[in-house]
Amino acid sequence: MKLNRTNLEQRLDHLYDVIVVGGGAGGLSAGIYLQRFRLSSLIIDKGKARSSWMQSLHNYLGLPPDTSGRKLLQQGKKHYDSLAGDFLDGYVEEVTDAENIFEIQVKVGRQNSRNVKFYSKYLIVASGIIDHLLPLEDMQNVYDYAGYNLHVCMVCDGYEMTDKLCGFFAGSEASIEEMVFNLSWFTPKITIFTHGLFEVSGQMRSQLQEYGYRLVETPIQKFLGENHQMTGVELVNGSVIELETGLISMGARYHNTYLQELSLEMKGGNLVTDKLGRTSHPRIFAIGDLKVGLNQVVVAAGDGALAATQIWREIRKDIGPRKWLM
Ligand code: FAD
Ligand code: FAD
Ligand code: FAD
Repeated sequence: MKLNRTNLEQRLDHLYDVIVVGGGAGGLSAGIYLQRFRLSSLIIDKGKARSSWMQSLHNYLGLPPDTSGRKLLQQGKKHYDSLAGDFLDGYVEEVTDAENIFEIQVKVGRQNSRNVKFYSKYLIVASGIIDHLLPLEDMQNVYDYAGYNLHVCMVCDGYEMTDKLCGFFAGSEASIEEMVFNLSWFTPKITIFTHGLFEVSGQMRSQLQEYGYRLVETPIQKFLGENHQMTGVELVNGSVIELETGLISMGARYHNTYLQELSLEMKGGNLVTDKLGRTSHPRIFAIGDLKVGLNQVVVAAGDGALAATQIWREIRKDIGPRKWLM
């Protein structure tokens, strides 16, 4: 059932088997498996999933490569809903573990919000990450191209950049070091932009020169282009640099603040898990981009299946075999 401000009262004293934080690719996959195992689940999702900015899912078996993230999410929500799973638009603020039951504090509604609590035996953390974009004064100018031919993920979209004039928008010298030489797998025509955000060392400058990559440190005024196709950048000094594609590499925000009280094992902002997705807490599983691993839809969906199946095994074991004879 789709929960909202008016009907959520019905569920406030319900103990869910599993609450899933995040209704993106991973969370919806987990939810579909949980409901098919006849467990009770609630997905809480704030919206604006990373996958929702993906204009085409290029590499998922069985789906046409122009499938958009929004379409994937829409279909996933419909599928989960058809299995009678509960779904709430809301923002999880905090999770506490009270005597083997999780208490999940949720803010419902961005304005005139209401704070409510839900309870579950298990928790699946599927809240993902969101890429930092180039911080321009007019963010709409960035949004017009980000996710189209201004990419954020080399594994996803390196292929689209093959042999193209490519702008690499770096957030730090480390991101140049880590990414540019890998990007050269796809294209040799790379211009690196620092947007004046950090200093580049002498050693890196000579390395870039040696490989024939241009370095631009003047801040960017705006992206140029139309119909979501970026064609270059205009710098604050008025000069224009033509581009055919771009890759932003400025790090990401990890959606993990609500887990702070639980002291889970982390690596950077990612949660460390075993092969089934179990974190350092025995009843918390982490799936998708927020866990250590490859940030891909197919991985998030597979993670959801593994975590849900393991939770079913454990709940089944706890309850014991069902006796159907009267
Ligand atoms: P998400 O899909 O981001 O879902 C997490 C959800 O949790 C979001 O809705 C978020 O808002 C919500 N959330 C976060 N915090 C809270 C909170 N406190 N309370 C409630 N909800 C919360 N992958 C591919 O495999 N192929 C591609 O071609 C591809 N292209 C991409 C193109 C772009 C532009 C981008 C940005 C990504 C692309 N990806 C691609 C990567 C893919 O989108 C991610 O790997 C995938 O979305 C991860 O799924 P997830 O469920 O972990 O996270
Ligand atoms: P958050 O920082 O997640 O939320 C801020 C606060 O609002 C939270 O702390 C919480 O208190 C409250 N809140 C959030 N959601 C809820 C909820 N559902 N219920 C109750 N309270 C809530 N963004 C755009 O707006 N337009 C774009 O075109 C766009 N394009 C993008 C393209 C790409 C490739 C990428 C990677 C990102 C894009 N983004 C876009 C996302 C953008 O960068 C931000 O991440 C996003 O706008 C933040 O939205 P948010 O309000 O959910 O912020
Ligand atoms: P396969 O899809 O079996 O592919 C392996 C291929 O290798 C085969 O074509 C085989 O002939 C070939 N091969 C084997 N040996 C050789 C050789 N020596 N030389 C050359 N080729 C060889 N999974 C779900 O997720 N959801 C479901 O609802 C679901 N329902 C199912 C229903 C049925 C009736 C069945 C049988 C399975 C179902 N599955 C379902 C499971 C799913 O089909 C498998 O998990 C999946 O196909 C495994 O993929 P695979 O690539 O490992 O193997």
